[in-house]
Amino acid sequence: MVNSARKIPADKKFDIAIVGGGPAGLTLGATLVHFMPELKVVICDRGNFEVPDDARSLALAAGVTRIYEALGIWEEMKERACPIARMEVTDSGTGDRSRPLFLSFEGEVSPGQPFAHMVPFRQIMQGLLKKTKDGVTLLARASVLKMDRTGARSVLELSGGNRIEAELVVAADGSRSALRDMAEIKTIVSDYRQSGLVTTIGHEKPHKQTAFEHFRPAGPFASLPLPGNRSSLVWTENSIDAQRLKDLPAQEQAAHIEESMGYCLGKVTLEEPIQVFPLRLCIARKFVVQRLALMGDAAHAVHPITGQGLNLGLKDVAALSEVIIEAVRQGEDIGSLNVLQRYERWRRLDVALMAMATDSLNRLFSNDVAAIRAIRDLGLGVVDRMPLVKKALIRHAAGGGGGGPKLLQGQDI
Ligand SMILES: Cc1cc2nc3c(=O)[nH]c(=O)nc-3n(C[C@H](O)[C@H](O)[C@H](O)COP(=O)(O)OP(=O)(O)OC[C@H]3O[C@@H](n4cnc5c(N)ncnc54)[C@H](O)[C@@H]3O)c2cc1C
Repeated sequence: MVNSARKIPADKKFDIAIVGGGPAGLTLGATLVHFMPELKVVICDRGNFEVPDDARSLALAAGVTRIYEALGIWEEMKERACPIARMEVTDSGTGDRSRPLFLSFEGEVSPGQPFAHMVPFRQIMQGLLKKTKDGVTLLARASVLKMDRTGARSVLELSGGNRIEAELVVAADGSRSALRDMAEIKTIVSDYRQSGLVTTIGHEKPHKQTAFEHFRPAGPFASLPLPGNRSSLVWTENSIDAQRLKDLPAQEQAAHIEESMGYCLGKVTLEEPIQVFPLRLCIARKFVVQRLALMGDAAHAVHPITGQGLNLGLKDVAALSEVIIEAVRQGEDIGSLNVLQRYERWRRLDVALMAMATDSLNRLFSNDVAAIRAIRDLGLGVVDRMPLVKKALIRHAAGGGGGGPKLLQGQDI
């Protein structure tokens, strides 16, 4: 089924076929045709390109929101977003009643620019679906059944009977990527046996644009500000407790939430049912092979403890779109390994560092061993008294440091 203003061309040939119409795949498609409208880009998804019923709100760093500014869709997304002006970190053991504050961050990356915004997932998808309808062919209910990468173009056989060709295929089909398996790319996997619970709450006290991260023995519990007296919650439990909590009556869920947050926002009410996401680390050993590039969660799914998953995926978009557009301008074959390895070199280290950081933080903070707690609290306390280190951490969390892809520096490609 074709679901866009741009119809599938008669010869079914495209420059780029993106498989996966999640936020990473849609942002790549929108970016490519925004900066190079003559490119023929198709996005195939097994779903229907509808705004999903997803309760998450995502923390997007200042660096990556520049991509949406460049595409002209940030102002609309921002209407339902909330800036994060301050962050407070607490640590507590089983049975603790008080929540000692160990670390606080405050500040802006540059005057008037907070280091991150909380944006509802639905709002991100709505903005992207509107933008891609202009210049991209969207193929709905199209899963890839077979991929042949041996010729000058990749050939994809899709469910629904379509067969399309493209110089380059991009796998943006999520952490259980079928294309990654078809290309026999191995992964590094660690099952956390934890699940992420997500909901939106209304609360009595104002959050003052503060993000709270409460480290508890069961795992981290984050409360992230939304417009008004509302916050997005994302917290970690072992997978059995997660299911049990999801099935509790709303009042008991609210009581659990208030207690986990140390009552810092007063009484809470749930605005929507809790959703549960199983968590695992999954990093592809290669991001590219001839005629195929992996991006987003298909290349790297990390623990949400620092809210970096889509931020990494959007940095992939900035790097890959620049590599593709530069290669087209130079008359190069965009599916060649030589070109694609420029993208891989750009992204590999950043992804490896973030995967290690999120994995270690989760292990360090998801336990109640007294000695480990004493050491981590000492570490957090020391950082809290070092304003220059905190400034550097904020700049890093915001992304877009020097030397990266142009879009992250606020420049056009
Ligand atoms: C609880 C939780 C909280 C999070 N919080 C944050 C946060 O605060 N900040 C942040 O940056 N990130 C966060 N993340 C991570 C973020 O949600 C993901 O990194 C992001 O959604 C990945 O986007 P994607 O487009 O790569 O993949 P997905 O969103 O998984 O999209 C994949 C798409 O591919 C399609 N697809 C799958 N298989 C096929 C197939 N075989 N054929 C065709 N189509 C297919 C699917 O239908 C889907 O549309 C969080 C994650 C969780 C679980």
